[in-house]
Amino acid sequence: MNTLRLTPQDAPLAARLLAQGGLVAFPTETVYGLGANGLDPAAVAGIFAAKGRPQDNPLILHVPGPDHLARYCDPIPAAAYDLARRFWPGPLTMILPRREVVPDVVTAGLDTVGMRCPDHPVALAILKLCQLPVAAPSANTSGRPSPTTAQAVWEDMAGRIDAVVDGGPCRVGVESTIVDLTVSPPRLLRPGGVTLEELEAALGPVAVDEAVTRLMSTGEKPRAPGMKYRHYAPKAPVTVVRGDPTASARYIAQRLGPGVGVICFDDYVNLFPGCPLRSLGPQGDRAEQARRLFEALRWFDGQDVTAILTQSPDSDGLGLAVTNRLNKAAGFHIIDL
Ligand code: AMP
Ligand code: MG
Repeated sequence: MNTLRLTPQDAPLAARLLAQGGLVAFPTETVYGLGANGLDPAAVAGIFAAKGRPQDNPLILHVPGPDHLARYCDPIPAAAYDLARRFWPGPLTMILPRREVVPDVVTAGLDTVGMRCPDHPVALAILKLCQLPVAAPSANTSGRPSPTTAQAVWEDMAGRIDAVVDGGPCRVGVESTIVDLTVSPPRLLRPGGVTLEELEAALGPVAVDEAVTRLMSTGEKPRAPGMKYRHYAPKAPVTVVRGDPTASARYIAQRLGPGVGVICFDDYVNLFPGCPLRSLGPQGDRAEQARRLFEALRWFDGQDVTAILTQSPDSDGLGLAVTNRLNKAAGFHIIDL
């Protein structure tokens, strides 16, 4: 398949391709999504094929606004409209009871569906033009770090999909926060750009699913089916060194050697001369860390490294999303200092 490279001005063509059953990767504020018409089971099946995604890992439906929720979900709790008012368009996915129009292939047969309205002009233009719910997981090969640039999408998807719309680098850099509103109290299934603290300010207490902070063993059935799979991982094994940044930098500096790559904060770059290295930004700037994380992980696949050691922020605020992705990339191989 010849994959088209499109620009934001091509949003009408992207919308037409989606309506015709095509696969189109497009920018959102979180990461690039791989979209298909969420009402067309054959088109949605194409997403799973292009990504090599396990069939039991459900997709999120993207809509242009909260007024589209009732088309696909029922009943809708008041909390959903309240959250939509506060955080949409934005990096928040809500799990709600699905209506029958939503095909099984989207929800992996669950009776719930994830709904999101992305905060990106290109994504919103496409959604408004096609007037369809667009099923869209991250536009990476399953298991690889999510793409935050059109180039990263191209590496994984060229020849496998109809088009990639280049909208520049993503502003948030990690996937959406997922909150399950079908349970009481609401449950955080994946941390993201909307923080746990912000959710609790809106909803009251929110439970944090265990899979956010620890490795699920093979026999366990996680609430978000995707959580059991290997994720975000570069080819070389990753070890997270957790603790005070000065101490973690010193710990890593003592373990350098041939084939050892380092992910660190800007503040410590000069401790690792000559190493394959990516910096995540200043140690206090979690937003920058979230933006840079996936590109850093992807970069090491082009380097001659056999091990990657990484510093890690604290887990408050956006740090919960950053540490969750780092820990998952490491298969929860964590050293606590
Ligand atoms: P991705 O779009 O690649 O970031 O993956 C979507 C994530 O949303 C996966 O982790 C799914 O397991 C999760 N998800 C989608 N729909 C549901 C649902 N109905 N219930 C629970 N988790 C869901
Ligand atoms: Mg993904």
